[in-house]
Amino acid sequence: MPNHVFGRSTKGTLPVAVRGEGCYLIDATGKRYLDGSGGAAVSCLGHSDPDVRAALHAQLDQLAFAHTGFFTSVPAETLADTLVASAPAGIERVYLVSGGSEAVEAAIKLARQYFMEIGETGRHRVIARRQSYHGNTLGALAAGGNEWRRAQFAPLLIETSHIAPCYEYRDRRPEETVEAYGLRAADELEAEILRLGPETVMAFIAEPVVGATSGAVPAVPGYLKRIREICDRYGVLLILDEVMCGMGRTGYLFACEEDGVAPDMITVAKGLGAGYQPIGALLVQGRIYDAIAAGSGFFQHGHTYMGHAMAAAAANAVLGAISGRALLPRVRTQGAKLQAALEAALGQHPNVGDIRGRGLFRGVEIVRDRETKEPFDTALGVNKKIKALAFEAGLICYPMGGTIDGRRGDHVLLAPPFIIEDAQIGELVDKLDGAIRGAVGA
Ligand code: PMP
Repeated sequence: MPNHVFGRSTKGTLPVAVRGEGCYLIDATGKRYLDGSGGAAVSCLGHSDPDVRAALHAQLDQLAFAHTGFFTSVPAETLADTLVASAPAGIERVYLVSGGSEAVEAAIKLARQYFMEIGETGRHRVIARRQSYHGNTLGALAAGGNEWRRAQFAPLLIETSHIAPCYEYRDRRPEETVEAYGLRAADELEAEILRLGPETVMAFIAEPVVGATSGAVPAVPGYLKRIREICDRYGVLLILDEVMCGMGRTGYLFACEEDGVAPDMITVAKGLGAGYQPIGALLVQGRIYDAIAAGSGFFQHGHTYMGHAMAAAAANAVLGAISGRALLPRVRTQGAKLQAALEAALGQHPNVGDIRGRGLFRGVEIVRDRETKEPFDTALGVNKKIKALAFEAGLICYPMGGTIDGRRGDHVLLAPPFIIEDAQIGELVDKLDGAIRGAVGA
């Protein structure tokens, strides 16, 4: 079939996906692919969930769309209620959009408008972290610290400053405890706020477990608590981007629950609609909403498809499945099995530097030298080779190169459906093992 759809790479043609069955996607030739990364941490329920399909049929028969300039809807209100009821303390309002980048854009604009409403009009700066990804629209791209994604668009991006990520494998000094490292990394935020002038800083944004740019790198214990304290000290809003790591991926509905931190705003998407519908959400502390309600009474933002009834119905069915089928404890158990299987197969491999993550969100970092942690030369395209070999073998995984001290390193991100069975964990690890060995020649 000719590829006239303009997607990502302009090279070659892609197989045509025709069917989804649980943890597998099937192409037009009948080839089956185990979805080891849920696409990009999206398909948390697998590909043909009967409850989500039924919910979507029922919603379509009732109401597909009512513009939010005129109406709210039952599925949208139900979704907001569920999210608020399960979110960290203080979250009271939900802004429904169509994906992760839209959620991040809304967070940045809401932060700015909040400070305008309360008279702190000098606050406009965003601080984020190097080696992070928050989306591809201009505001979200500006927040992200991935140099490769930003480079050619730099003149279009709003000014953002970037501090170090919390990246224990790379940055903890040998003599340092994990806790001491976490505090040192977090204290970079305070230094940056002071450098910029606290009265100019509106928000700090970070992923609790860094996904696409780094391969499931979790914040160390204590890091986010210290970040919260620093934000509070200087009146800076804390935005946690849980577009990838949220909605149960780590074994908790919100990844930050495990860190014991309540942010001012949380962005979610991907697993919220589980791929059945495009949907994202910005969850907001009551006081931020209240400031706007007491002020101009209008958040100056919006998209045509926000609060879409079909998208909300899909998300309701997804959240219903996560709680009704006790999937969070399952993610923790299957996640531990995945970690153990990865360690058993790859733990001693000379080119595997680190295997990490939380729940069913795992990363394998590939290095040229295990002792020095030196990455492979970018020109070798190791992560691309792993992706191609895995795909050939019938495994979808998400290899990427991240920037490490100005050099690009390689990692593989795994985010299989929460319904993954033990045998499929075995299949995933076998195929990944083969692909990594094939790519690095060992
Ligand atoms: N934030 C994070 C942490 C992400 O991983 C992504 C997508 N990879 C986004 C934002 C952007 O989401 P979307 O692609 O749905 O716009």
